[in-house]
Amino acid sequence: KKNLIVFGTRPEAIKMAPLVKAFQENDKDFVTRVCITAQHREMLDQVLTFFEIIPDYDLDLMKPNQDLYGLTADIVSGMKSVLEDFQPDYVYVHGDTTTTMAASLASFYSGAKVCHVEAGLRTHNKWAPFPEEINRSITGRITDYHFAPTTTSKKNLLKENIVEENIIVTGNTVIDALRFSVKKVSSIDFYDSEIDILKQSINSDKVILVTGHRRENHGQGFIDICNALKEIAIIYPEAQIIYPVHLNPNVQKPVYKLLNNISNIKLIEPLGYPAFVWLMDKSYLIITDSGGVQEEAPSLGKPVLVMRETTERPEAVKAGTVKLVGTDKTKIVSEAKALFENEELYHKMSELHNPYGDGKAVERIVKFIKELPHGK
Ligand code: UDP
Repeated sequence: KKNLIVFGTRPEAIKMAPLVKAFQENDKDFVTRVCITAQHREMLDQVLTFFEIIPDYDLDLMKPNQDLYGLTADIVSGMKSVLEDFQPDYVYVHGDTTTTMAASLASFYSGAKVCHVEAGLRTHNKWAPFPEEINRSITGRITDYHFAPTTTSKKNLLKENIVEENIIVTGNTVIDALRFSVKKVSSIDFYDSEIDILKQSINSDKVILVTGHRRENHGQGFIDICNALKEIAIIYPEAQIIYPVHLNPNVQKPVYKLLNNISNIKLIEPLGYPAFVWLMDKSYLIITDSGGVQEEAPSLGKPVLVMRETTERPEAVKAGTVKLVGTDKTKIVSEAKALFENEELYHKMSELHNPYGDGKAVERIVKFIKELPHGK
């Protein structure tokens, strides 16, 4: 049997890496190849290097000023030649990107079975996040086997009339990746220059780690976020805000304009995944609009303020380790203040409990695929 694992962005690469490794390193029953669309280029390549993954197909689709129309068309047509060349039985896509949606559609055209990892996340609002909610909903409609991270995501799929036997609750593979990474980063012969630089530049035990990139926050959202961060930096001069700024110009412009030259705000390039994991672990508080970071942080016992109005990841909000704050300046500042002033709240939000997984998601996915009756 032949597996094709497809991804295009940094978070997809992180979350698919443990699946690639499990199939390629331990499984002789499957020939497993990797196809990257390179919807992100640089940030994706760093992850591949860390996980020692060499793609078999590289569509190399990233272009300046690319819009969703062109990207979608390029992925569908680029996938055609890969699918015709390799003729996979199973194609694995991940999450909610344009790569996910377009690659699953192309795979459906080819007759391959589509396997969706991180299936069933929904906000039930087609514009939030845009275009991710529609990407994952369309992918769910096309998918044959749905690997849902939690029972909440399984329930979302059941409501969309997906057959129950094709939904497998696995936990999120991001925890598998995090475990692998924490182990690798802390081994004695591991060296990472970014970690070295971070060690020298951290001068506070109250590090606030910030990341943000969501399209829905572009424009006024990022301006409000920056103003909130500025205020937090003034109120707490002993804190140090470290902000790896996403490469998207819609993020870079407001952030560098509004937050440059503030002594306790450090704007840096996006970090490689190992350094980012290291820094999450050293942080006091994380402020982000990222999906993956929300899932990782509870495993490291870090409270998270999420700069979104809605979330497709309600589990940690319910568990109390994550709080939705939107992009409202007053709300971001007051919730950050609460975490600085209220020790009890801080302890409650930093409890070590992760509703997103136990690090065995990949094991469950591989087992399910291996146990499928021949020809399914
Ligand atoms: N991440 C990283 N370097 C950074 C910021 C994030 O390696 O500078 C990792 C992070 O650990 C997580 C993933 O990238 O696994 C999240 O990516 P992003 O926030 O871009 O996407 P999302 O999860 O929101 O789809």
